[in-house]
Amino acid sequence: MKKIALITSGGDAPGMNACVRAVVKTCIGKGITPVGYFDGYHGMMNNRFKEMTSDDVVNIIQRGGTILGTARSKEFRTVEGRQKAIQSLKQNDIDGFICIGGDGSFTGASILADEMNIPVIGIPGTIDNDIYGTDRTIGFDTAMNTVVDAIDKIKDTAGSHHRIFLVEVMGRDAGFIALETAIASGAASVLIPEERSNIELLAKDLKSQGKRRSNLIVIVAEGDDAGGAKEIYEKLTPLMEGYTMRYSILGHIQRGGRPSAFDRILATRMGVFAVDSLINGESKKVIGANGDNLHLTSISEAVKTESVANVEHLKIIKALKTVI
Ligand code: ATP
Repeated sequence: MKKIALITSGGDAPGMNACVRAVVKTCIGKGITPVGYFDGYHGMMNNRFKEMTSDDVVNIIQRGGTILGTARSKEFRTVEGRQKAIQSLKQNDIDGFICIGGDGSFTGASILADEMNIPVIGIPGTIDNDIYGTDRTIGFDTAMNTVVDAIDKIKDTAGSHHRIFLVEVMGRDAGFIALETAIASGAASVLIPEERSNIELLAKDLKSQGKRRSNLIVIVAEGDDAGGAKEIYEKLTPLMEGYTMRYSILGHIQRGGRPSAFDRILATRMGVFAVDSLINGESKKVIGANGDNLHLTSISEAVKTESVANVEHLKIIKALKTVI
């Protein structure tokens, strides 16, 4: 293996830079030239790349976002679009490909592997944690810490004004961020897509918890079946006479910021492992971390298997409720 192409693709996540750094440095250490394509598949189709040196990755381990840029490209989903990417990869003598992103990015990489006969390895980078085969994706830990920090602040104002707050967090169709941050922030309740929401029951529950406490937090996953925080606020308001409520949508702050130590370490371990996996002849696999162990899952299995939050954790929140 002489030249490995690298992209960051799909939604950005804190820790992607730490991963880029690890891939680049590992390649250089093994006499391989790392080639970074800009803005994911979009840059690959347009032959926008840089042969990376150690200087390119100095001082980036602590930076959020991705120095390579990222994008979503409709054109890459077409045969013609991928032919443009293949032409660039061939022109640059690329003989291995590492893709940091989510399920969609891995599907694209797998198709590329078949059409060009090039080995590919995926690294799970998304704040949503919704990738099968790994306990944690790069960026999830940092996003959780950002949410918990924001909720701590919201609790100050909620307590001062005796308000109930509905806080909407990201996660798309999965409730990982909502469920884990509900535990970490001592939320009164949490609504996640993995469990059907019942607004009447929520109102009853909040009233029973609200007699003594005045800073109740309800975390709402953006993909919840009852809607986002605004919709739930509107449905809940008529049932909560005598209580003051507000809602807050945390939005894109969850995607940014300095990666946590956990994400930097995970990203670094996965980056090194990805290069080693290509050298060992692996292809069409995604890296997963289970505790201290890294392993590979086939891309086809990873993308077809849904990754859902552990609903058992709902019991923890229920067990800790202060019901009067
Ligand atoms: P995130 O979880 O952050 O959304 P993702 O990798 O799932 O990340 P997508 O937008 O689904 O994000 O995919 C990223 C890119 O991968 C797409 O813009 C597209 O270029 C490519 N891609 C996705 N699905 C396919 C597919 N079925 N065939 C070819 N390319 C694909």
